[in-house]
Amino acid sequence: MKQSQDPKKLPSAIENLEVLKKKFSTNKPLIFLDFDGTLAPIVENHEDAGMDNETKEIVKQLSENYAIAVVSGRGLSDVRNKVGLQDIYYAGSHGFEIAGPNNFEKDNEEAQKMLPVFDEIEEKLQEKLSAIEGVRFERKKFTLAIHYRQVSEEKISEFHSIIENVVEEYPKLHKGDGKKVVEIKPNIEWHKGKAVNFLRKELSTATNPFSIYLGDDTTDEDAFREMGNGYGILVGEHGNDSYADYRVENITEVKRFLKELL
Ligand SMILES: [Mg+2]
Repeated sequence: MKQSQDPKKLPSAIENLEVLKKKFSTNKPLIFLDFDGTLAPIVENHEDAGMDNETKEIVKQLSENYAIAVVSGRGLSDVRNKVGLQDIYYAGSHGFEIAGPNNFEKDNEEAQKMLPVFDEIEEKLQEKLSAIEGVRFERKKFTLAIHYRQVSEEKISEFHSIIENVVEEYPKLHKGDGKKVVEIKPNIEWHKGKAVNFLRKELSTATNPFSIYLGDDTTDEDAFREMGNGYGILVGEHGNDSYADYRVENITEVKRFLKELL
């Protein structure tokens, strides 16, 4: 069983480039990439996030040689639009919606049945949170994200307790916390790690395909745990221990790392 550890103790992927490159040249990895905080900088307004052209070009070139999947908490259509590349796979809403080249598509069936419940809870929360300034709702197909980056410090505990009380009424839903965002998801055992496992089977015929995963947030930890003989690479830190094998400091180092893979 893999152990989590203080991210500061993880070896730097940049300092170990030569070792990693050797490993990558003999085992062509499947490349899994988170979006926000990994390929695109975290910004005040969630909608404004975007990849710069250089990163996009690097990912595009990588996709000519490697199987690539962007695994995001964003809705599928949202992340696909943001990245804008045709020949790669996407796992949106933490993997509830998966799509890829040649019209490949796979929705979580249990989650599909939850759509009316999401409509109901969204309406209820919009109403109860209307008095708090700066709250932003983002409805994805199978996740309701509520952003509070712009909520004033003194209102944050009220914000959380309102959500907690409402979610308690819905045993089929649960909430998770990310960076300045609360995400309400179906109570189904499904997360980035399962999405990655599904894609590992889909994208390779090997039983334990060599894979790498780059991500910056706590939700990426589920994926780091599934890397088998591959590597999880943590971008920056998220305040908790990590199951990653290496770290890079920031998205500039992500870019540098991906460039080296070319
Ligand atoms: Mg992220």
